[in-house]
Amino acid sequence: MRVLISGASIAGPVVAYWLHRAGFEVTVVERTESLRTGTGGHPVDLLGPAVEVVDRMGLGDVVRARRTATDLMTLIRPGKPDVTIHGAELLAGVSDRHIEIMRGDLAQILHESTARHVEYKFGCTITGIEDDSVSFSDGSRERFDLIVGADGLHSGVRRLVFGDERNYRHFLGAYLAVYTLPNVMGLEDQVLNYSAVDRSVAIYPTNDKSRVRAAFLMRSPEIVYDYKDPAAQRRVLRTLVDGLGWEVPTLLESLDEASDFYFDEISQIRLDSWSRGRVTLAGDAGYGPGPAVGGGSSLALVGGYVLATELAAAGGDHTVAYPAYERAMVATVAGSRRIGPSVLATLIPRSGLQVWTMAQALKVLPKLPRALQQRLTSFGGGPAAMLEGVELRPAYSQAQ
Ligand SMILES: Cc1cc2nc3c(=O)[nH]c(=O)nc-3n(C[C@H](O)[C@H](O)[C@H](O)COP(=O)(O)OP(=O)(O)OC[C@H]3O[C@@H](n4cnc5c(N)ncnc54)[C@H](O)[C@@H]3O)c2cc1C
Repeated sequence: MRVLISGASIAGPVVAYWLHRAGFEVTVVERTESLRTGTGGHPVDLLGPAVEVVDRMGLGDVVRARRTATDLMTLIRPGKPDVTIHGAELLAGVSDRHIEIMRGDLAQILHESTARHVEYKFGCTITGIEDDSVSFSDGSRERFDLIVGADGLHSGVRRLVFGDERNYRHFLGAYLAVYTLPNVMGLEDQVLNYSAVDRSVAIYPTNDKSRVRAAFLMRSPEIVYDYKDPAAQRRVLRTLVDGLGWEVPTLLESLDEASDFYFDEISQIRLDSWSRGRVTLAGDAGYGPGPAVGGGSSLALVGGYVLATELAAAGGDHTVAYPAYERAMVATVAGSRRIGPSVLATLIPRSGLQVWTMAQALKVLPKLPRALQQRLTSFGGGPAAMLEGVELRPAYSQAQ
């Protein structure tokens, strides 16, 4: 059977890997001209079953070798002393099985593990899905039995099959901006986090020691702007952080030169069903819990695995496999939708009192027994607990 996957980041290559092993012929199309690796992008978290999936792919060692571990996290507050804490203490409650890695590094590892067996077409998108064929941006047309949209929050496959994303995108009341800039502060193995009311700014290291990433989280009512226009996005960012002190004016000096500027609203994709006919969605495209707030990378890895193993078990019969995939994921996806808003409420303080409370909590955290540290840093169970509910079928292999 011929399977077409759109998107070569996390979910796409995972589906490709397991479908190839089960004997399917797989093609992946990716919009960008090459893999976006560079400084590595943003760090993402692999939790519980997602770690299990990379282990089952035989990639556990290489993924662990490229893990990022932030030694120190410093909370900076307007007019108050800084509080510094070890990253391990802050992450105590996340999960015993937890790997933090740059998204770009993970995508590269997943791509390398599939590139010999799977056809990758970079700089190519799907432009039309007809009854028996698929049209591409390079003008070609081909027949595929199954189609998987693993093309992220603003999925093109989803738009073609399910219609305008405004119908199922749910705004969580905040915006996110991220870009890379020169490491003028000489930051090493440390995250700086400036917390003010309704605004939170983090600076963290990248794979390239001469560069750092700045991430801005801003609570705001929905803003009307041309979301496809980077100049308009930059204007919105400047307006949202106007008047913020600390290093923010210095960070903004590099904004116009940043080639990897990312700006988006923090929103979730809420579809009742993410399959239609022979087309299904995986990862952020189908059930994105919101960037930076809900364990989206782990969902992408686990969802990709569950989809592929259900297809393998059903011999490629999507009328059996897609409903089984959705049944296996539905509780976890529902859980991830609940977690996003509470994680966001912690990441962006609503009041000066919340900033103060956060600082006090960080001061006492290192002195607490580990069990209590775990309870306080788990976001009420959080993404790790929600993912533990997914049952992973045994791996299936025909083409080893
Ligand atoms: C700034 C930021 C911080 C984040 N922090 C975290 C975190 O701390 N922890 C965490 O777990 N998650 C985090 N996330 C979310 C995480 O990155 C995503 O949940 C995860 O990458 C989803 O993987 P995916 O494969 O489903 O989609 P994506 O990683 O979005 O990949 C989609 C792929 O499809 C490609 N594509 C897009 N459109 C098309 C098209 N029309 N045709 C072909 N290809 C296309 C894209 O180029 C991309 O390669 C963060 C996200 C952002 C933006």
